[in-house]
Amino acid sequence: MSEAAEEASYVPQHKKRIALFFGAMRHFAQAQRKAGRPIIYNRLDDDEAPRSLSEGMRAAVESFAPKQVLVVQPGAARVLDALRGAAKDLGVALSVLEDRHFLTQPSDFQSLREGRKRFILEDFYRAQRKRSGWLMQGDQPEGGQWNFDKDNRKPFGREGPGLVPRRMSFEPDAITQDVLKMVAQRFADAPGKLDGFDEPVTAEQAREALQDFIDNRLASYGDYQDAIATGQVTLYHARVSAVMNLKLLDPREACLAAITAWEEGRAPLNAVEGFVRQILGWREFVRGVYWTLMPEYAERNHLGAEAEVPAFFWTGETDMACLSDALGGLVETGYAHHIQRLMVMGLFLMLLGARPYKVHEWHMSMYLDAIDWVSLPNVLGMSQHGDGGVVGTKPYSASGAYIDRMSDCCRGCRYNPKQATGEAACPFTALYWDFLSRHADRFSKNQRMAMQMRNVSRKNEEELAQIRRTADSFKKRLI
Ligand SMILES: Cc1cc2nc3c(=O)[nH]c(=O)nc-3n(C[C@H](O)[C@H](O)[C@H](O)COP(=O)(O)OP(=O)(O)OC[C@H]3O[C@@H](n4cnc5c(N)ncnc54)[C@H](O)[C@@H]3O)c2cc1C
Ligand code: SF4
Repeated sequence: MSEAAEEASYVPQHKKRIALFFGAMRHFAQAQRKAGRPIIYNRLDDDEAPRSLSEGMRAAVESFAPKQVLVVQPGAARVLDALRGAAKDLGVALSVLEDRHFLTQPSDFQSLREGRKRFILEDFYRAQRKRSGWLMQGDQPEGGQWNFDKDNRKPFGREGPGLVPRRMSFEPDAITQDVLKMVAQRFADAPGKLDGFDEPVTAEQAREALQDFIDNRLASYGDYQDAIATGQVTLYHARVSAVMNLKLLDPREACLAAITAWEEGRAPLNAVEGFVRQILGWREFVRGVYWTLMPEYAERNHLGAEAEVPAFFWTGETDMACLSDALGGLVETGYAHHIQRLMVMGLFLMLLGARPYKVHEWHMSMYLDAIDWVSLPNVLGMSQHGDGGVVGTKPYSASGAYIDRMSDCCRGCRYNPKQATGEAACPFTALYWDFLSRHADRFSKNQRMAMQMRNVSRKNEEELAQIRRTADSFKKRLI
């Protein structure tokens, strides 16, 4: 096992992210040693240690002279290429094993997709439900519906979310304290805050975190899946993506725990189906997209967007209340919930015209749960529409009015979500109309964009010119 410096620095990384990865690795290594399994562990603070995973493999091959090297499929095509390159140089056979941590393999995805003109999440998800038998009555979905998305879009309303149960916190033990000290010393310039690190770092703690969600938040997960409330980082979300991606928590266990809660009457079907769909559906779907379309996928830039990610995305210092809240939480914790990622931060960058791969790199830097296979299709595909419709069939475009409907942010903001021009124009709203009119030729051909495009066509030339000027002045100020 290698705490490879290259992995911690090929993009700048949130301090809590480095601490989580190395903390989890050291605990895992300790558990293996206790179980009597020999392990070679390279610490980052050992100056002699290999600096990259392929160097680590090279050193191990040189000292053990094995007949072959076995690796489980890694989380990034970049790492697989580097390991293959090292094995070739060393003249040793390299076998890549399936990662049994997932519910499907990329080859399953590929065979479901083959020969179909359309292959969207819903097609994949229904096949997954039938295959697993989860939430099924024979060949029909429980509750007579495959998906309860329409029930899962409630805002909190004027009175706000009230008392949301606090997420379970994990006090750093001596091993984690050691890692935190190292991160503070060696990564002082990295983004994000290290103070208050309280993430689960062992399989046992990951299971406790899941149970905390099932017992205290799952029942309201569905209803408020798309809601945003200022100052509330977790709301009713699970916060298990990082431990699942680090393989401390098995996705089967997460889904089955939610299904059991429904069977025992402790959570409603819309919540449980919503949670299962994210894992059995989305999580497996994006992994299939990644391994089927890489490396070409990373180059995609369907909308020809070339702008940089604005500097305030690293600090959260902006006068836009919704972005300040989402980015502030991210800098503090390394986490933001799905709708903040998609409909606040991601939306803003798409409307601004940031280059999708650069957005993905920023994302890889800032989130505890970002791994290439899951970040790239979600960021470049779902949120930036850079893949031209593989992950989502239309761009997730919206104006400030959407954020106003789903959150309380606009009430405390100096901008007005209804205004696209003038002193109080909301940047989201100005950029939204500008975005639609810039891409009018392309979007007019997309049936699912028909309503939005009809609204653009109702605006006259003068209005559009004013909006363009407002949007340009925001861009000049922000990029
Ligand atoms: C722009 C953008 C970037 C994202 N990047 C990542 C990423 O780097 N890593 C990551 O794990 N998820 C990513 N997601 C998906 C999703 O937002 C996170 O998995 C989720 O917010 C994690 O928080 P949670 O555990 O509280 O999730 P919950 O909302 O409680 O959902 C439960 C679980 O479902 C899974 N899940 C939900 N949606 C997705 C999805 N679209 N793709 C894959 N798994 C999903 C996760 O494992 C998650 O833990 C991204 C989504 C967007 C829109
Ligand atoms: S007014 Fe615009 S910038 Fe301000 S919080 Fe609302 S959507 Fe965000």
